[in-house]
Amino acid sequence: MDLLVIDEGTTSTRAMLFAADGLCHGSEQRDLVQHHPGPGLVEHDAEEIWAKSLACARTLIEDKGAAGRIRALGITNQRETIVFWSRRTGRPLAPAIVWQDRRTADACARLKTEGREPFIQAKTGLLLDPYFSASKIAWALAHWPQLREAGDDLCIGTVESYLVFRLTGGLHVSDATNASRTALMDIAAGSWDEELLDLWGVPRGALPEIVDCAGPIGETLPELFGGPLPIAGLAGDQQAAAIGQACFAPGDTKGTYGTGAFILTHTGTELRRSRHRLLSTIAWQLGGARRYALEGSVFVAGSLVKWLRDGLGLLGHAGESESLARSVPDNGGVYLVPALSGLGAPHWQPDARAALSGLSFASGRAHVARAALEAMAHQTHDLMTAFAGDGARWHCLKVDGGMIGNDWIAQDLADMLDLDVERPRFVETTALGAAMLAGVGSGLFASLEEAAGMRGAVERFAPAMTSAARDARLAGWGQAVARVLG
Ligand code: ADP
Repeated sequence: MDLLVIDEGTTSTRAMLFAADGLCHGSEQRDLVQHHPGPGLVEHDAEEIWAKSLACARTLIEDKGAAGRIRALGITNQRETIVFWSRRTGRPLAPAIVWQDRRTADACARLKTEGREPFIQAKTGLLLDPYFSASKIAWALAHWPQLREAGDDLCIGTVESYLVFRLTGGLHVSDATNASRTALMDIAAGSWDEELLDLWGVPRGALPEIVDCAGPIGETLPELFGGPLPIAGLAGDQQAAAIGQACFAPGDTKGTYGTGAFILTHTGTELRRSRHRLLSTIAWQLGGARRYALEGSVFVAGSLVKWLRDGLGLLGHAGESESLARSVPDNGGVYLVPALSGLGAPHWQPDARAALSGLSFASGRAHVARAALEAMAHQTHDLMTAFAGDGARWHCLKVDGGMIGNDWIAQDLADMLDLDVERPRFVETTALGAAMLAGVGSGLFASLEEAAGMRGAVERFAPAMTSAARDARLAGWGQAVARVLG
């Protein structure tokens, strides 16, 4: 019996089939259109997300002749993106506002000036930033009259919530990990918070019921897949990746290096409140009990390499960065602070701008490429220091994401963090995590620990740098960052 996964991302959605041993034996993907109706505005058409996710799942099942062989469905999704739809028809009532959208920057800044951030951080574990859903919902209710006019017909939810609604024909739920990113949830209590709903003017009745990440969550309409399928696993993408990387014990840490980089450290049953501008978040909820994590996000990771390629024409393709970095013995004193869209955790300086420093006539294209790749380990080192300051010490870093196919980066992370870096052979950890949850939720596995067998073989990169070389790099980076923040 197989596990079906819908992995709905920011630029594409896909369906994947997994066997109980973790073997992925099929994948079907469709690109999603992002709409940019103005500077800083990013929207999706939720109807397109639904139609393409459904089409991927149906095509995959048909191609693989998997009908009748699927035990359960798991869903993972881009977090924070918020959908508005009609309870009656299931159709979107407005565009979905994407996590990257900055339209509420001023509103968030105003509340920050009024001193509201500590209250929000205490309840939600998050910061006052447009990134999270609450300010986007408030904006939508204020600017799109059809949402107010909809009254009781209005449903609001993150993307997994919308997909479940459409798949089941009307079940309105959201899993605890996705709910924890809306900035409307009291993450200690595990419920929507009245004070936060009041602050942002969000009607309680429009929000979903918060449910576990695994279990008998619902059943798909029989006509969709030739018979009902149990929906048994739900989690936001970064939490799903942490599960896919088997981060189950306090201190277990994963880093996903794609367009941006997202680091999560499991903190167990304890909700740790960051003093270093990291986010506290729900790692998963099972049987009504929550596990927590600390999270640090770096805005610019793979997008830096893409920019070197497309913006500067310095690289022919992303992989060339590896041979260039290897072609020089060191960075030659060149440092790149990649604040191309501000600096994320632990600095949270949206207005900071990038800098390339330490150039001389001896600097070449290889030094710049090397400085760009080194920036991944430098930024991760800053996060490791912040996590340690919050009492979440790392003992190993489990990595995945498109950048991590680059062996040089994996080794540099091990060297600069002075930690073992572990890279699974099967790197689609987000989808794997959703499959593991669906396996647990459908009773295929008794626990997540039992499901961890799906993860398969890993490669290890061990630190091999002298502490003098590491210290010199960190000192150079520290000076470069200080100039940017200056
Ligand atoms: P996302 O899931 O965020 O869309 P991916 O995980 O697919 O991103 O990773 C793609 C990113 O990784 C791109 O920004 C690309 O520039 C970068 N990338 C891909 N291959 C390499 C490589 N060999 N070395 C460095 N960066 C790479």
